[in-house]
Amino acid sequence: MPVHLVIIGGGPGGVEAAATASRLGAEVTLVERDVIGGAANLWDCIPSKAMIATGGAMALSRRAAALGLALEGVRIDLNALRERVRDISSRLAASNERQLESQGVRIVRGTGRLMGSHQVEIVPSDPQAGPPEVLDADAVLVATGSRPRVPEWANVDGTTVLTTRDAYPPAEIPEDLVVVGSGVTGVEFVHMFRSLGSRVSLIVSRQQVLPMKDPEVAAALEADFLETGVRLVKGARAVAVERQEEGGVVVVCEDGRKVAGSHMLLAIGSIPSSARLGLDRAGVEVNGAGYVPVNHHCQSNVPHIYAAGDVSGRLQLASVAAAQGRKVAEHVMGLHTREHRHLDYDKAASAIFTEPEIADVGLAEAEAFALGRKIRVTKVPFALSAKAMIDGDPRGFVKLISDPATGIVLGGSIVGAHAAELISVIGLAVSARLKVDAIAETVLVHPALAEVLAAAAE
Ligand SMILES: Cc1cc2nc3c(=O)[nH]c(=O)nc-3n(C[C@H](O)[C@H](O)[C@H](O)COP(=O)(O)OP(=O)(O)OC[C@H]3O[C@@H](n4cnc5c(N)ncnc54)[C@H](O)[C@@H]3O)c2cc1C
Repeated sequence: MPVHLVIIGGGPGGVEAAATASRLGAEVTLVERDVIGGAANLWDCIPSKAMIATGGAMALSRRAAALGLALEGVRIDLNALRERVRDISSRLAASNERQLESQGVRIVRGTGRLMGSHQVEIVPSDPQAGPPEVLDADAVLVATGSRPRVPEWANVDGTTVLTTRDAYPPAEIPEDLVVVGSGVTGVEFVHMFRSLGSRVSLIVSRQQVLPMKDPEVAAALEADFLETGVRLVKGARAVAVERQEEGGVVVVCEDGRKVAGSHMLLAIGSIPSSARLGLDRAGVEVNGAGYVPVNHHCQSNVPHIYAAGDVSGRLQLASVAAAQGRKVAEHVMGLHTREHRHLDYDKAASAIFTEPEIADVGLAEAEAFALGRKIRVTKVPFALSAKAMIDGDPRGFVKLISDPATGIVLGGSIVGAHAAELISVIGLAVSARLKVDAIAETVLVHPALAEVLAAAAE
């Protein structure tokens, strides 16, 4: 009898686990109450990047004259934009679903919860689909993701006070948007709406946007925000929102400052979807914040119950969720005893889809400094790149961090066009422990932005 793996949640973590486990010979049931591809596909990664791509085209149209184009009357067609976002999500969901079904994964539409450590009950999403089904499982993966954190004072109504889930696109492009939260999600939404034509104010709880990032990287983004008229309200914590009779909102900060706008958008993090899953019945520990703590195989304290993705409280990225899902499948099928590398969260590349784009991987300069670790830092601006000049966008730089004794690449940051793509080169070097010479001696395309990577590796 093949091992039966039951997966609750069909986001990137669940989908990748299902695909890998079925390829390795497991019987797999994937329980999803909504859309295959998960929140990543429906609310997070995909729609936000689709809107940002449209915003990018708008921003490019504003620079048209510098590129030798005379454009007039470019405007947003909200219905077409809405259709485009939906179409991308549904095509991705359908292709995920087709692929899983062709591999023999059973997809069940419903809400799953543990009835014991080896039983999962599924309540069908369609009330006509009959009574709940109970499945016996050899192993269970909880990959139920997370949802936006909404403080009580916010009174979200989805029209003037929005979470990120109300923004694809909203009924109208906000004339004057106040974004609360200056982490990765907050700055992406600032960028999205300013490029679609909104005036934007950003409430920043500290003195720097992106508090977890390299200060030089954050400063480059702040400079661009200020240049394009984004108002930064620093050292401010939003505590209330007042709706105005004449329309619009006033966001009140703890220190009494008030920020007025037509709309407010909350981007202050997420909370794990771990309630009502029967975790306590199965003996699975959940920490105070609601996450399921896991070991390096993504096992919970109950060895055959795994957690992957946002609910595991590790790096909240779709790419990491998928990598965890893969590791879970390999562990369920016993492959961890063979050649199997643990997931190294410190070597996961990540990007912020602003303009300029930001991406980083591995050790950051500030982190090395805090650790007292000796590093070699080389920084080369895109302004020196022929391709950046040709594209009319010379903003940003590449920063490469290596070990001065061995030359091994330890990390890097990129600010500039296509940073999310270019970081792959540094990501590969970090995970394969390549030396800077390997990058410097690769004969690259000319003219290409990647030449700046080679220059930084000299
Ligand atoms: C605005 C925004 C933009 C983002 N952009 C990026 C990006 O560009 N790149 C990136 O890497 N990350 C991005 N992220 C983070 C990324 O979306 C998450 O890390 C990722 O979705 C986590 O995947 P997951 O597998 O944990 O599950 P999710 O994608 O959260 O999906 C979980 C699924 O489980 C289902 N589910 C929950 N409970 C049950 C139940 N009881 N029964 C059945 N089904 C259930 C849900 O319906 C959902 O479909 C973004 C996040 C946000 C908020």
